[in-house]
Amino acid sequence: MSFDAAVATLKGRGIEGKAVVIKDRETLLAAAGSRWTLVENLRLLHEALSSYQVDRAAVVCTPCQAHFLRQASTFPLVEGTDFSERLALILGLFCLGTFSQPSFAAFLRRRFGVSPARVQEVSLREGELRVQVEGEEAPLAISVSEALEFVNLGCLLCDGYTARDADVSAGAAAATPGWTVLVVRTERGERMLEEAKRRGYVETSPASEEVLQEIQLRAGEKLRRATEYKLRLF
Ligand code: SF4
Repeated sequence: MSFDAAVATLKGRGIEGKAVVIKDRETLLAAAGSRWTLVENLRLLHEALSSYQVDRAAVVCTPCQAHFLRQASTFPLVEGTDFSERLALILGLFCLGTFSQPSFAAFLRRRFGVSPARVQEVSLREGELRVQVEGEEAPLAISVSEALEFVNLGCLLCDGYTARDADVSAGAAAATPGWTVLVVRTERGERMLEEAKRRGYVETSPASEEVLQEIQLRAGEKLRRATEYKLRLF
């Protein structure tokens, strides 16, 4: 498997993220971690491939974007738009929702008196959002139910947690802090992982029953949430 660039997201200022075409190791490592706002990575992917700035690309994306890419590659609707041969790998991230940036910024100001530009890191730990603010020792804690206030409305209707359309899905589980949970879904995903192991880039260990149960629980919660919101709205 080979590709000459990856499209992923770098952390921007505060809560912002920035989609980038990555061709070097340093930038790739800087793109590690979660971003909580949607960025224009598919537009960037399309531009990079259609302009031949990139020959073959991997993309790191949300489950909804992975679904779109898989569908567009399998059943291209418009002649000439199929770039599936040059899409080398879809890496999908576990996703509970992304934030509406203006709503999240307003929430931080109203609830904690914090400027969003001071946010250094947002993570999901032990069932709550932890927001690390510059100059503060302990992170701010926000319950998941409170976080629904600033999640994008479309995300409340979305039932996909583990990026089923990706080649490899990746995400965190509270049961294995410090590790990334990977779900290998396709042959090319498996080839990529084997190659990464062979080169010593990753170390793997089988997921425990506890990890599997946690992922199933989260996926089930998201499915129920989507069903509930669909019933409310339609
Ligand atoms: S919750 Fe669904 S719609 Fe929202 S960003 Fe995640 S995958 Fe996309």
